[in-house]
Amino acid sequence: MEQCCAFPGARHPRVVAPPAGRLIGAAPGPLDTARRTPVKAVSSNNVARILVVGGGYVGMYTALHLQRKLKQQLREGSIEVIVVDPDPYMTYQPFLPEAAAGSISPRHVVVPLRRVLPQCTVVVGEVTDINHDERRATIATLAAEETGDGAIEVVYDELVLAPGSVSRTLPVPGLADFGIGFKTVEEAIGLRNHVLGQLDIASSTRDPAVRDAALTFVFVGGGYAGVEALAELEDMARYAVRYYHNIKPEDMKWILVEATGRILPEVGPDMGRYAVRELRGRNIDVRLETRLDSCEKRVAQLSDGSRFPTRTLVWTAGVKPHPILAASDLPLTDHGRLKCNATLRVDGVEHAWSAGDAAAVPDLTAEPPAKPDEPRPVCAPNAQHALRQSKVLAENVAATVCGGTVQDYRHKYVGSVASLGLHKGVAHVYGRKLRGYPAWLMHRAYHLGRVPTFNRKARILAEWTLAGLFKREIVSLGSLENPRAEFELAAGTGRHNEAS
Ligand SMILES: Cc1cc2nc3c(=O)[nH]c(=O)nc-3n(C[C@H](O)[C@H](O)[C@H](O)COP(=O)(O)OP(=O)(O)OC[C@H]3O[C@@H](n4cnc5c(N)ncnc54)[C@H](O)[C@@H]3O)c2cc1C
Repeated sequence: MEQCCAFPGARHPRVVAPPAGRLIGAAPGPLDTARRTPVKAVSSNNVARILVVGGGYVGMYTALHLQRKLKQQLREGSIEVIVVDPDPYMTYQPFLPEAAAGSISPRHVVVPLRRVLPQCTVVVGEVTDINHDERRATIATLAAEETGDGAIEVVYDELVLAPGSVSRTLPVPGLADFGIGFKTVEEAIGLRNHVLGQLDIASSTRDPAVRDAALTFVFVGGGYAGVEALAELEDMARYAVRYYHNIKPEDMKWILVEATGRILPEVGPDMGRYAVRELRGRNIDVRLETRLDSCEKRVAQLSDGSRFPTRTLVWTAGVKPHPILAASDLPLTDHGRLKCNATLRVDGVEHAWSAGDAAAVPDLTAEPPAKPDEPRPVCAPNAQHALRQSKVLAENVAATVCGGTVQDYRHKYVGSVASLGLHKGVAHVYGRKLRGYPAWLMHRAYHLGRVPTFNRKARILAEWTLAGLFKREIVSLGSLENPRAEFELAAGTGRHNEAS
């Protein structure tokens, strides 16, 4: 690693020129002293550094709460909060299906971290290693990648580790080659363009096999992401085909493959069954207790023996904890999540905290296990817990840094809402079950209330209102993914872009 003296753009650069590597707040220096003494005792000329890894639900909300709670200390420079994320924005994932359907613009489902966290230092980069024993994290930044400068190291006093989860893939032949994920805004918009692109292919080919494969859409996984993405995209495609002279809605095959006997477990069994009926009523082929065995050569082979040539295979069959957790020296559960206690502190480790998808936090509202040696149930990985945990997490980190008592996280899951396309949905909230239009309205109202910043709320509301007045957008902008193609062609160096 190469030598460097300051973090580009750091609000309170307190960097001690390191012997090697880009080291921020490196030893010997004020931070290092702070690390060895109780953080509460940090003197006025020292700065307590809180490193937040991940700027998603937990990371962004924790930093937001810290920013409010520690306003004065941040202003006078006695505390510093650094937020690291590979993207300069937080993605409001529950709105990805609506973004894929074109009901919300992509830039409105993301929240710019620099805008909402002006008192924090936002670093666009990926934490690649955490040595908590030495309170040191390694960050690979874009600049480091381009210039080959090497990674940056940050030393910290308190660590909030919230990198969330990644798609859980299985060794299904062909999956790595043809599968499409649905966790990021890029994937959501890419999928929208891809689906609309398939309609164009189907409409323009004379080959029935190509047409059939283009009009077959297979989604694997019946959780939030899979069901909402399929339902929204089917709804959008059904609308779009009215503008194609040679495609009818019944020409399309939409298939949902789910390994268990139910979908949307979050809304409970009754509403899950309703969702299956609703989707089947729209001619969507919902296959329960079925697995994807292979998708080699773009043919989806299912465990019930059926085969579907398809150009669209969306994989949303669950998530697993982010691999960075395993690269740290912190304790993990058998499932790879960080072992946390109810205060959201990493179990048995001082100054390390976590929440959200990455953390196994005991659910204090769940029935205790029947046998004393059985583990306590942990909070499910969802936005509801992530959001509420981040508030407690910020309180507890602030209490640790400034002096105060930490509190336990306790929240009874209140249920869930899910959209099944425009004007269709299911909800099971506070024991009340809703379906159809009221559930869809509740889904929109709930998420509009939750999406961060007034600015975003207003823009999304305006988009929804305008969408109610005008026709839906059905244009595919797949070429956006390859913006130089036209110029390369003109310059004689490019190739014709193959339809994906
Ligand atoms: C399509 C979809 C729809 C959903 N709908 C719902 C819903 O309706 N209701 C609900 O309750 N839940 C829903 N969820 C789940 C919910 O979004 C997650 O539970 C929640 O986002 C978890 O928050 P988190 O902060 O743990 O992780 P995330 O929000 O995923 O944030 C993790 C962040 O860490 C960053 N990161 C990753 N690796 C690194 C690294 N090495 N260094 C630095 N940063 C890193 C990532 O870029 C990301 O920004 C949905 C999820 C998806 C994908």
